[in-house]
Amino acid sequence: MPEHHKVAIIGSGPAGHTAAVYLGRANLEPILFEGMMANGFAPGGQLTTTTDVENYPGFPEGVLGGELMDKMRAQSERCGAKIETETIEKLDLSERPFKLWREGASEVTDTADAVIIATGASARRMDLPGEDKYWQNGISACAVCDGAVPIFRNKPLVVIGGGDSAAEEAIYLTKYASHVHVLVRRDVLRASKVMASRLLKHPKVTVHFNTAPTEALGDGSLLTAVATKDTKTGEQGKIDANGLFYAIGHDPATSLVKGQLELDSEGYIQTIPGSAETNVQGVFAAGDVQDKRYRQAITSAGSGCMAALDAERYLAELEEGVATEERTNADQPSK
Ligand code: FAD
Ligand code: NDP
Repeated sequence: MPEHHKVAIIGSGPAGHTAAVYLGRANLEPILFEGMMANGFAPGGQLTTTTDVENYPGFPEGVLGGELMDKMRAQSERCGAKIETETIEKLDLSERPFKLWREGASEVTDTADAVIIATGASARRMDLPGEDKYWQNGISACAVCDGAVPIFRNKPLVVIGGGDSAAEEAIYLTKYASHVHVLVRRDVLRASKVMASRLLKHPKVTVHFNTAPTEALGDGSLLTAVATKDTKTGEQGKIDANGLFYAIGHDPATSLVKGQLELDSEGYIQTIPGSAETNVQGVFAAGDVQDKRYRQAITSAGSGCMAALDAERYLAELEEGVATEERTNADQPSK
């Protein structure tokens, strides 16, 4: 027999654990599936892959990403959440209670009245030669997270990408860098007009069009340069740089809900603005899986709180028999 839960949380980053803390304290006995290397991440999510986190409030000296996630996990448990080190492989959101399959199971293993999707996202990488060696030793996929660390201060940095993220990250990095080089593989920026113009006008930024990186070069422990090639002529080049930031997009972990929840054109779950509600009543989304703009631990935690409060209200309405089956058109998610 499947195990029934009032509310199941899928994912174990800041969004999932914040939801678990709130729902546990509301005596809703949430179950949180933390995954077993789901989407390539250990339980605890993306922050387990980094060292110092200096922008999460409450830690004036900074905190190690893994330590922060251990603390969140302990807090979830202390507040009454049950945590299972399992990946959810399949979901059926077509009728209530919703059905869940743990990895490897042929039959439904769990059912839930409400589900919170907090499966996160992953930054796209380029698999350049040297990338693994210098990942987090000069190479990063988050300027806001890593830009301020000492190895990047007053040093030349490279950003790859031509979208809004690349423009935003490059401009952000000018606060710390001596100069920022942006490598754009085509002869145009994809970024919005306003961001593109801000980027092109910035005195500390050089945009290299038709340029792609070919290798991350270093001294064995830290990155020192990026080898490049002209995408039109094939001409090789090299830019001295102590930092290489990827801004070539993220992939939200939405394979579980594809075809069941409304996703935007880039695969992010769409939520009703100002809430964590999806187009399926009783299913909520929080964290990077529904946020392509901010992608921070604190914003993920904030949306995890919203998902928990929305789920709590929904479950109360369900108990009172007032939860309606259909949404009106005005309630449809849009972003
Ligand atoms: P995630 O952290 O992505 O976690 C999702 C979790 O859910 C993962 O553990 C995954 O395995 C699990 N999961 C996925 N699918 C399933 C499934 N089917 N079943 C069960 N489990 C599943 N932000 C900051 O604010 N400050 C920083 O300094 C900072 N540094 C960063 C450094 C790096 C290297 C990276 C990659 C990110 C950094 N970020 C930082 C961004 C921050 O980590 C993310 O915004 C945040 O972790 C997103 O949280 P989340 O809860 O949405 O999910
Ligand atoms: P985008 O998909 O918009 O842009 C990705 C960029 O990376 C493109 O220039 C793309 O090039 C380039 N790229 C992709 N793969 C490679 C590769 N292998 N090698 C070199 N370059 C590559 O992603 P973003 O993360 O920038 O933005 C995602 C969404 O979030 C967008 O809708 C954006 O508008 C939004 N956003 C908005 C912000 C804001 O409003 N302030 C801030 C950040 C994001 P090409 O153009 O050739 O495909």
